[in-house]
Amino acid sequence: MAIQSIRLFGDPVLRTPAAPVVDFDKELRKLVKDLTDTMMDAPGAGLAAPQIGVGLRVFTYYVDEQLGHLINPDLDLSSELDEEGEEGCLSFPGLAFPTPRAIRAVAKGFNMHGEPVMLEGTDLMARCFQHETDHLDGILFIDRMDPKQRKLAMKAVREAEWSGLSAPVVKFSPHATGGRAL
Ligand SMILES: [Zn+2]
Repeated sequence: MAIQSIRLFGDPVLRTPAAPVVDFDKELRKLVKDLTDTMMDAPGAGLAAPQIGVGLRVFTYYVDEQLGHLINPDLDLSSELDEEGEEGCLSFPGLAFPTPRAIRAVAKGFNMHGEPVMLEGTDLMARCFQHETDHLDGILFIDRMDPKQRKLAMKAVREAEWSGLSAPVVKFSPHATGGRAL
């Protein structure tokens, strides 16, 4: 097990676009393992490499008991939206807010061995693919909320006990009531 500390909102790494993976080597396989271990420990439904301070386009997911990872993802989204679904983020411990997302997503990319993979997800899986791919572009779920919801979310962020504690050594174990965060 190689559990890493999860970066919190306020850490600049979460706003930095990640670079595409070029070398499908041993180091990449270790990164996938670290992401998987850290996500399962949190526990979370998804985790992107920038959330553990690594600027590479890699994420892991654990949704509907399906565990996996995707590298250099490219998404194709349905125009049909789920406007009301609640979404959380491991970089915003304990918080969840309605966040509009496409209901279906096809995610193309590669596995850690460099083989092309195509994943198709609906509902929470589709939401996870969008949330994690956003992380790789430096986009956070608060950016996807409508302005009124974002205002409420930012108020909750400012009032959260972890607010301002973006040092990477700080580790939190969120106890979310509404399922796993992403
Ligand atoms: Zn997140």
